[in-house]
Amino acid sequence: MTNERYACDILVVGAGPAGLAAACVAAEAGRQVVVLDNSPWLGGQIWRGEQTHPTQAAAQRWIQRLNKSEARVLASATAFAALSPRCLLAETLSGVLEITWQKLILATGARERFIPFPGWTLPGVLGPGGLHAMSQAGWPVAGKRVVVAGTGPLLLAVADGLKRHGAHVFLVAEQTPLAKVMRFGLGLWRHPGKLVQGLGVKARLLGVPYRCGCWPLKAEGADRVQRVTLTNGTRTWTEDSDYLACGFHLVPNVEWPLLLDCELRAGAVRVNEFQETTVADVFCAGEPTGVGGAECALVEGQIAGLAAAGLPDQASAFFSQRASWHQFRDALNDTFALRPEMRGLATADTVICRCEEVRREALESFTDWRAAKLHTRCGMGACQGRICGGAAQFLFGWDNDSVRPPAFPVRVGSLMSADPTDPTASTPTQPRV
Ligand SMILES: Cc1cc2nc3c(=O)[nH]c(=O)nc-3n(C[C@H](O)[C@H](O)[C@H](O)COP(=O)(O)OP(=O)(O)OC[C@H]3O[C@@H](n4cnc5c(N)ncnc54)[C@H](O)[C@@H]3O)c2cc1C
Repeated sequence: MTNERYACDILVVGAGPAGLAAACVAAEAGRQVVVLDNSPWLGGQIWRGEQTHPTQAAAQRWIQRLNKSEARVLASATAFAALSPRCLLAETLSGVLEITWQKLILATGARERFIPFPGWTLPGVLGPGGLHAMSQAGWPVAGKRVVVAGTGPLLLAVADGLKRHGAHVFLVAEQTPLAKVMRFGLGLWRHPGKLVQGLGVKARLLGVPYRCGCWPLKAEGADRVQRVTLTNGTRTWTEDSDYLACGFHLVPNVEWPLLLDCELRAGAVRVNEFQETTVADVFCAGEPTGVGGAECALVEGQIAGLAAAGLPDQASAFFSQRASWHQFRDALNDTFALRPEMRGLATADTVICRCEEVRREALESFTDWRAAKLHTRCGMGACQGRICGGAAQFLFGWDNDSVRPPAFPVRVGSLMSADPTDPTASTPTQPRV
């Protein structure tokens, strides 16, 4: 199989709010832009249904703006390896794309964090974002009894979405204490849009208990979840449930930045004021630089896009907006930081790595992620540590500081095309956009 080749001034990986904004401003500035995303739709995690079922004005504005620009969109394309320092490989359904870039903007978003507890691998226990996405795609949740648990504002957004799809959400259990959540809520006056959004969600969830300082201890059932045991630290009780949607805030997707040797700080990509990473000509915007929400991602995306297009003065016009969203981001992460009790949820025989079935007791004797991987295969299965990595970081303090290609699981044929010594791997055509 031969690779299809593209060349561009600016390549954007990820078409969520950050990637959309970066691609729009760079293309409008006259640069040749390619933007790729592994999903078939534009919009990332928050706006992915907007192309087919438009509901949000901001999403529509950005998607239309991108469609009107000269940017080339490559959907269902997963960036998985670098062929050379300025050439990236992406897998599509029909083959492999070889994309050469002058500037690269990484806007790969974040994913849900899972903290293991007994029963967390039972069918019917899912991440809140995952269950929400499935219900949006038509998975029937109407009439099902659902507990939403964990931490972060996503819990309320998901409870709202599931309720709209007819689910009987009868409890939202937030591990953060009420006082901290209240303080965060009161601070939202600085971001009136968020305040209105939050009040709207709360109003729609009238009648659904939102219990703070409350978390799941275990999920039980014969062949799928049937009961969830929860605690508020003093009292423990059990609820019958068809689904447990449980996730503990989000963690930045940093596989690509690590693959390119970009430095991290506290698990997020280190960038300068123009969103440039520690590797020259590689920029990063949105959740990989810290989990701060869609508005923060949009502003960072515009700064990255303008800076990559060589327009630093225009980029700096967004600095004050970004500073304000970074205050929000810091408050968000401080409020929904995990309480120490979460470290004790997994018992000795609780599975931590579900791909390779590695239990907690098998990991206790190691001092770092690398040693644990080598001896137990923890994090070496199909998800490549995307699920257990965040848990291991929290439980044991292990950082994953190295990633090897492929950054995502791909077909063997695609892997072979990543071999630069293979003369059949690429066609000698002129680069095009
Ligand atoms: C599961 C989940 C559900 C969420 N639901 C909500 C919600 O309901 N309401 C809300 O307010 N916020 C929600 N959020 C948070 C919200 O998505 C973010 O705040 C916002 O979308 C951040 O924008 P972004 O552009 O940084 O990242 P994202 O929107 O995550 O966009 C990143 C994009 O990059 C793509 N990508 C990643 N790696 C590659 C690769 N190697 N190759 C190609 N493409 C790649 C991803 O598929 C994704 O489309 C959710 C987050 C998650 C993880």
